Amino acid sequence: MIAMAPDDIRTVPAGSLGFGRYMATHMALCRYKSGEGWEAPRIVPYQSFMLDPCALVLHYGQSIYEGLKAYARVDGSIGLFRVERNAARFRASATRMAMAELPEHLFVQAAYDLVQQERHLVPTTEGGALYLRPVMIADEAAFGVRRSSSYLFFIVATPVEDLQRPDGRGLRLRVTEEFARIASTGGGDAKTSGNYARTILALDEARALGFDNVIWLDPVHRDFIEEAGITNIFVRTAAGKLLTPPLNGRILAGVTRETVLAQAASWGLDVEEQEISIAQLATAVLDGEVSEIFLTGTATHIAPVASFAWREREYLLPPVDFSSSLAGRFSSHIRDVQTGRKPDLDKWMTLVVDSRRFAT
Ligand SMILES: *Cc1c(COP(=O)(O)O)cnc(C)c1O
Repeated sequence: MIAMAPDDIRTVPAGSLGFGRYMATHMALCRYKSGEGWEAPRIVPYQSFMLDPCALVLHYGQSIYEGLKAYARVDGSIGLFRVERNAARFRASATRMAMAELPEHLFVQAAYDLVQQERHLVPTTEGGALYLRPVMIADEAAFGVRRSSSYLFFIVATPVEDLQRPDGRGLRLRVTEEFARIASTGGGDAKTSGNYARTILALDEARALGFDNVIWLDPVHRDFIEEAGITNIFVRTAAGKLLTPPLNGRILAGVTRETVLAQAASWGLDVEEQEISIAQLATAVLDGEVSEIFLTGTATHIAPVASFAWREREYLLPPVDFSSSLAGRFSSHIRDVQTGRKPDLDKWMTLVVDSRRFAT
């Protein structure tokens, strides 16, 4: 159940914000019509849509989305994290799905205006953020698999806590051999609805067996790991090397993934984007050659993995204290830049409101 957010987010007890439980009472909204182009996004009250039963999205799935966060900063300002990367990815997803491209400056402006409007909903608690969910759907009423002549773009906002908390023992994953996330020819790099609808059965199956999420293997060899659930995956070897699968058209190019890779390089770590065979990974875990596996994504932030199950056997990672792990080091560095505890040397943040936010 989704409820409207209270006027004062501080009245929600710590730890019970959840993820998407409370919706901001405003949303950003604009339309596209062929021949006219895009309207400027407006901030309007949260509202339902009237869709024709023949709206193309309902039949053929022309729908794309994004996920990004605005963070409360220690000086009282609010910052959007790498919003221009989400704007660029949204445009690329639209291209891939033969939908109208939303100019990046309109995406950024809509996100900015919505955060400005809902600034009282940005949690100031550790691990809290205002999560923005931009979506575009094809709403022309037409029969036939083809481009739409009209689109609806909107952003809803919800105050959240990190989806996975790094305390505790880490996630238990299950390698699914029965399902693949994406076909061999790609399309997984677009954040489009159909890519997610297809994953629910595998996820249900893993959850029914007591696992937290699924590891996806490549659809060709059924051997190389690609992603885990809707997060990117990293492996740190005992020799100190940091590995993640290379973008191949099937893997979603995560902004968090890109940030971790850039940060690793700037720390001088030995990083490599290379294919990781599940068979070799399993052997390496047994031989003590793997020290960490962790997942990255905006909703999750950075989450350690405790184990993965593959072919009737569970492979346990060595127990590590998150704060002293490499995952923990990325987690706190990125969080420190997001919240302004560390200087934003790489220009990751777009400040939405200045430090007068809390002035009364
Ligand atoms: C959104 C998403 C990610 C994470 O991307 P971020 O930009 O880091 O949030 C990873 N994998 C899939 C399949 C996704 O949809």
